[in-house]
Amino acid sequence: MNKEKRLEILTRLRDNNPHPTTELNFTTPFELLAAVLLSAQATDVSVNKATDKLYPVANTPQAILDLGVEKLKGYIKTIGLFNSKAENLIKTCQMLVDLHGGEVPESREALEALPGVGRKTANVVLNTAFGWPTIAVDTHIYRVSNRTKFAMGKNVDLVEQKLLKVVPKEFKVDVHHWLILHGRYTCVARKPRCGSCIIEDLCEFSPPKKK
Ligand code: SF4
Repeated sequence: MNKEKRLEILTRLRDNNPHPTTELNFTTPFELLAAVLLSAQATDVSVNKATDKLYPVANTPQAILDLGVEKLKGYIKTIGLFNSKAENLIKTCQMLVDLHGGEVPESREALEALPGVGRKTANVVLNTAFGWPTIAVDTHIYRVSNRTKFAMGKNVDLVEQKLLKVVPKEFKVDVHHWLILHGRYTCVARKPRCGSCIIEDLCEFSPPKKK
């Protein structure tokens, strides 16, 4: 895909949604970090349902530690893999209290040292809580980038590198939200909704030929 098309795609996505953000509910970097940890293999809606009850009771690392793992499990038991997520969240809270004064560190290295936090989660927190121009490539971004030929790559790391290279600076902070939302609601996995897609004329998707 050429530069002009990419620019037009980004411009349309921006015009369509000038101030995109995550669909996870949060008000502080810690609330975002905890929500992202809870969201692995779960929907944002299910995470929001749990955190809407949890955060009024406990929304800091110390408060979650005070709650304890069993009570924490009670709040998040509707989310998949809640047992291991609760254990990880407690360990993360302990590290945040011990090493970072109970705050979420604005550092990739420190974030990735937390239990359950990989590159993608660190990218989301750095981007969405701190405004860094990072791009967290999830399954939606991976699919949309490859399908449209906007930024092709054989794995998520390669797609991330390609996106960082081809997306102009002014779009970098928001691009991951636009691509996730586009993948979640329009360019869906099974049957992309090309008829109602605002970038259909620019997309280079070639559907497999019917036999
Ligand atoms: S035209 Fe279809 S394949 Fe291309 S981005 Fe839109 S929904 Fe996805």
